[in-house]
Amino acid sequence: MARYGGIDLGGTKIQAVVVDEAHEVLGSSRLPTPTTGGPADVTLAMIESINVALEDAGVPRSELVAVGVGSPGVVDDAAGTVTSARNLPDWEGTYPLGEKLGAAFDAPIALSNDVNVATQAEFDLGAAKPFRSILGVFWGTGVGGGLILDGKLWEGRGGAGEIGHMVVKKGGAQCPCGRIGCMEAYAGRKAMETEARRRHDKGEKTVLFKLMKERGRDRLTAGIWDRALKHGDKLAQEIVDRAYGALGAGVASAVNLLDVEAVVIGGGVGIKLGETARDRLAEEMQPHLFNDDRPPAVLMAELGDLGGAIGAALLVARA
Ligand SMILES: [Zn+2]
Repeated sequence: MARYGGIDLGGTKIQAVVVDEAHEVLGSSRLPTPTTGGPADVTLAMIESINVALEDAGVPRSELVAVGVGSPGVVDDAAGTVTSARNLPDWEGTYPLGEKLGAAFDAPIALSNDVNVATQAEFDLGAAKPFRSILGVFWGTGVGGGLILDGKLWEGRGGAGEIGHMVVKKGGAQCPCGRIGCMEAYAGRKAMETEARRRHDKGEKTVLFKLMKERGRDRLTAGIWDRALKHGDKLAQEIVDRAYGALGAGVASAVNLLDVEAVVIGGGVGIKLGETARDRLAEEMQPHLFNDDRPPAVLMAELGDLGGAIGAALLVARA
């Protein structure tokens, strides 16, 4: 039997699935992304993620015929390389990820942009199935965007969809990308954490870092933000509200340009905050929409947390 692997390489976690020819998920896994080391350490964790997913599926390694990978950074599938994956540890240069994984699994490897594969998965199998033109917004460590226009993935010259770096405030906050005023500078999980630390260090009260310690984490995960909000944490609420404001402005601006039928919200933070995130995004977009009498549908990513990994498997299981 032919089985396919899919790996979603994220800044916080690595998720993997093993699927059959009908794209049914047989097994999955989730490991934290190493925060230290470099590409070689991340690659080892990726190999482990597939091994755990195979075990979960009860599928022997010999049935794995190919593995697809959705990765951040600049992805060159033909060369099998990933360059400048900045949300990953020490991954500034070019790394032969395809070759390393191919050797480990003795199978062909396909690489693509993480957000594009997740958008494609929602378009093919998930929430966006009824539509022809969609914008995927993946709210996680950063904020990624994927575009399908008239049924086709729009990659531009290879770098399209960087919605996180739409400028929502001239002269605004510093973005993890080094530029100023990007949407991600307000809404990315990493930037939200930086802001929470800054305010906490100045003496503001919050349960965020206490929760982080209790749960043995070294960063403010989506789950910690969610729990702090449920605790009624004022600082967490203010930072999340600021994120919604930035997302609303940025996503509405993209919709004004492209007039897509639907916006699908996913990503680690988006999925965790769930329907609240979807409703707040729609609400925050409304004042910025030029065609405000016919807003696009705003939908939750239906494939949930595993959408990226399923989309990665689609790279090799599509035929
Ligand atoms: Zn930026």
